Amino acid sequence: MNSLIKNFQKKYCISQKNKESSFGFFKWVIKTELTILIIFFIIITMYKLIPQSIIFQMKYSINKHFIYDKNSQEHYNFDSVKSAILRNNSISEHEKNFLNLFLESEIKENVNYIDTKKIESRLENLKVTYNKKYYYDKKEGEYIVSNPKYEMLGIAGKYNAFFNKITIYEQINEYEISKNYNEEKFDFSKCNKEAYFHELNHLLSNNNLNTITNKSNLSEAINELFTREYYYSLANNNDFQDKGYDEYIIFAYSLAELLPENVVRKYKFDNNDSIIIKGLLEIDNNLDEVYKLLSSINSFNIYQRKDKSGYMKFYNSLKYFYEKKYNQDINDNIDLLLYFYGTSLQSNDEKNKLKKYLNLSSSDEIIDIIPKGYYSNNYTQMHEKTIAICKINGQKKIIEIE
Ligand SMILES: [Zn+2]
Repeated sequence: MNSLIKNFQKKYCISQKNKESSFGFFKWVIKTELTILIIFFIIITMYKLIPQSIIFQMKYSINKHFIYDKNSQEHYNFDSVKSAILRNNSISEHEKNFLNLFLESEIKENVNYIDTKKIESRLENLKVTYNKKYYYDKKEGEYIVSNPKYEMLGIAGKYNAFFNKITIYEQINEYEISKNYNEEKFDFSKCNKEAYFHELNHLLSNNNLNTITNKSNLSEAINELFTREYYYSLANNNDFQDKGYDEYIIFAYSLAELLPENVVRKYKFDNNDSIIIKGLLEIDNNLDEVYKLLSSINSFNIYQRKDKSGYMKFYNSLKYFYEKKYNQDINDNIDLLLYFYGTSLQSNDEKNKLKKYLNLSSSDEIIDIIPKGYYSNNYTQMHEKTIAICKINGQKKIIEIE
């Protein structure tokens, strides 16, 4: 019996000890977690206190020699892209024909920069959905906007690389709604092809969003520049109806004027900021200035039309690199002056300088601009020089920039 009691006490004591030690364990966990939390808090605070430009320097000075070279694919055959498109069971024949026709020259001309295996797989599995702009609310007896968020931001489409899916939003006005609108299907035949092609162009890029900020106005702008050149040269439509990107496509045209052609092509199909950083460092080995230029682009508020202060930051940074490279006043570049004119953010001084160059009086106007070609062979052949469409004494006149 005694031994039983002893055993019991032994057991009890042991369990008491365990209890104590388990309390100790909890204390330890709480202490450790608190310590980790405090350290975490200190790191976050420090990170916030360090200027972004230093973080940028830390990130990119580690690996200054960004290696990026794909094996030459000169003999790449477009047939394998064609058969990947053919194998896609989710898209219509009409869409397949469009994809084949519109992608061929862009893929062939840029094949050394494109991850073709990835593109083929994406094209084979691509899904496209079409969202109608309105739905009919029976209770209210009226049409309601289906996607108010996208509608407000003026988004015509998007490409999600993770789900490999394009979504196209219908672009119609209330007065265009027909009697049978509710029963009508919104599909490829009715969608805005330029918007479709813009999203398709995202599919050609790696979407390697290794950017200094999480969003990338730069990749959007360059994507749109390629869209315009490759789409419009085939669609044979020089009437730039989609003005949605006009405020910031200037970033793409500016870099097209500043950086070598292969650098921009590489960036377009890889979306890695390192490529642009390396290109800029070759003009001037100054990471601070590179940071300023890139952050001015990516912090530009594209949804706030006429972001004048954002525009000025960008302009000053561009001017820095432009004048380092060409040893020439940036305002002597008439093409650039014209592109900036299109943004409506230009100063009056620059506008007057441009009008003087084009021999326009103060009452004459520049009503449209057709930029010269940079990347698409077809487009460049059609547009060797930038064109300004002007209204002189009430008459439309086309002026070519020499
Ligand atoms: Zn886009």
